Amino acid sequence: MFRSAYETKLAQPTAAKCHPAGVCQENPMPLLNDVHSALNPTEVLRVERPSTIDELQAGVRAAAREGRALSCAGGRHAMGGQQFARNKVHLDTTALKSVLSTDCERGLLRIEAGATWPDVIAATHSMATPRGGCWAIRQKQTGVDNVTLGGSISANAHGRGLAMQPLVEDIEDLTLVDAHGEQVLCSRTENPELFSLAIGGYGLFGIIYAATLRLTPRRRVVRLVDVLDLSDGMNAVWRRFGQGCLYGDFQFVIDPRDPAFLQRGVFACYRPVDDAEPLVVDDASADLQPDAWLRLLGLAHNDKAAAFRLYAQHYVGTHGNGYWSDTMQLSTYLPGYAEFLASHRPPETSVASAVPETLVIGEHYVPRQRLAQFMEAAGTVLRAQNVEVIYGTIRSILRDTTSFLPWAKDDFACIVFNLRTRHDDAGRRCTADAFRGLIDAALDLDGSFFLTYHRHATREQLLRAYPRLPDFLAAKRRYDPEERFVSDWYEHVSAVLR
Ligand SMILES: Cc1cc2nc3c(=O)[nH]c(=O)nc-3n(C[C@H](O)[C@H](O)[C@H](O)COP(=O)(O)OP(=O)(O)OC[C@H]3O[C@@H](n4cnc5c(N)ncnc54)[C@H](O)[C@@H]3O)c2cc1C
Repeated sequence: MFRSAYETKLAQPTAAKCHPAGVCQENPMPLLNDVHSALNPTEVLRVERPSTIDELQAGVRAAAREGRALSCAGGRHAMGGQQFARNKVHLDTTALKSVLSTDCERGLLRIEAGATWPDVIAATHSMATPRGGCWAIRQKQTGVDNVTLGGSISANAHGRGLAMQPLVEDIEDLTLVDAHGEQVLCSRTENPELFSLAIGGYGLFGIIYAATLRLTPRRRVVRLVDVLDLSDGMNAVWRRFGQGCLYGDFQFVIDPRDPAFLQRGVFACYRPVDDAEPLVVDDASADLQPDAWLRLLGLAHNDKAAAFRLYAQHYVGTHGNGYWSDTMQLSTYLPGYAEFLASHRPPETSVASAVPETLVIGEHYVPRQRLAQFMEAAGTVLRAQNVEVIYGTIRSILRDTTSFLPWAKDDFACIVFNLRTRHDDAGRRCTADAFRGLIDAALDLDGSFFLTYHRHATREQLLRAYPRLPDFLAAKRRYDPEERFVSDWYEHVSAVLR
């Protein structure tokens, strides 16, 4: 059988190496971990990093020939073990980032899926719209940039649009590499079922090689900031929406001793301005600079009241500032934040906090009119579990009308908690119990939760929030009967539902 040069290279045995501890063994296994929580260390058999479609196809075919399963990752910022599989081959997509084609008439960008958002944004800036100016992305995640288009599509990510569906709404088509290493194009009209499964498919339906992204004209936007109580929150959203705001989010008080805990926050919105309206654009002030970001993060751990004051001060100080609609969505994020925090601990906490710690994210959804009830219940859960929120935000989402297993099953308020998590049994248990409590609080209000941020949801919670999950897993086995594409999260959830 024909073998490409790349497949031949893959077939070569790896040279024996020594572990740092001095223990020599054949083919030591690479150890991968997620960037944010660092709670998913996973030894994989080997890591492939294809840089062309041929190499990607060859990598999948080689694994198939060896009878091995594959996991796949881009930015590795997701959690819950969804991008790694123990003892399996791992495919790293980050070298696949070329622009494949542009359509400046219709605002379509076809680009390889290992491109990160800064790569995508840079590509759109050389695409002129027919009416002048350039094209831009509609939405990306908040709080992190170095994530790939493929990872964002597989998680069906969302940004801070006030009236947008998740990313699926912006995807015109996908090119997948299937379990046989073949390219498959899918869209709303071609292989529509596979399209709906792969978006929000957590890497289980093939490797996304490329996607066509629908763009929007780049606009200048003005930031409008209010510090307000949640009781006025929904009205404020409608007010700002009525004024034409496209984006917005609400960062709430994280100090449980403050009566305004989870109830008061900074509501920042973005309204596009007309060409005639004077507005100086200053993207440099859109987010905190790295030193201010680290200071804020340190305060969020050690002095939560001061953290909110600093955050509110920064945002209120930028009320009326002008930004571009795309680059204002970029954020400061420093992957080494855990080491920074360890070196800035107050001396009196040194013994207790000798254990490493990071943040674990959970996202919960409730019908918008039930937001106040949820935040009340969430406060009770978080206080009872004595778990610390380091960062929390509320956004809004419209019902996803395309994907097979939508997390946005309705027009929801989305509530994100970043929970401080010590990496010992007690710390993990505390975070797990808190998330189970928060999930119950959302479910009791006809809400839901994001499926793959962690593995703490019970079988009952999984099925209540995602009644189509068994059908999703059955479809996965129909498209991929040999289970070529797997992850530790997939193994876990399959076992829980078995
Ligand atoms: C600080 C922070 C802030 C965040 N903010 C948001 C937010 O605002 N909104 C939001 O929706 N999410 C948010 N997230 C979650 C994160 O954006 C998503 O999980 C996204 O998937 C991460 O992209 P990635 O490239 O890092 O993916 P990875 O972590 O590498 O992978 C994520 C999933 O995608 C799969 N995958 C990756 N590449 C491919 C590919 N080419 N083909 C097929 N499958 C693939 C993986 O197998 C895995 O299941 C945030 C995460 C962090 C850490």
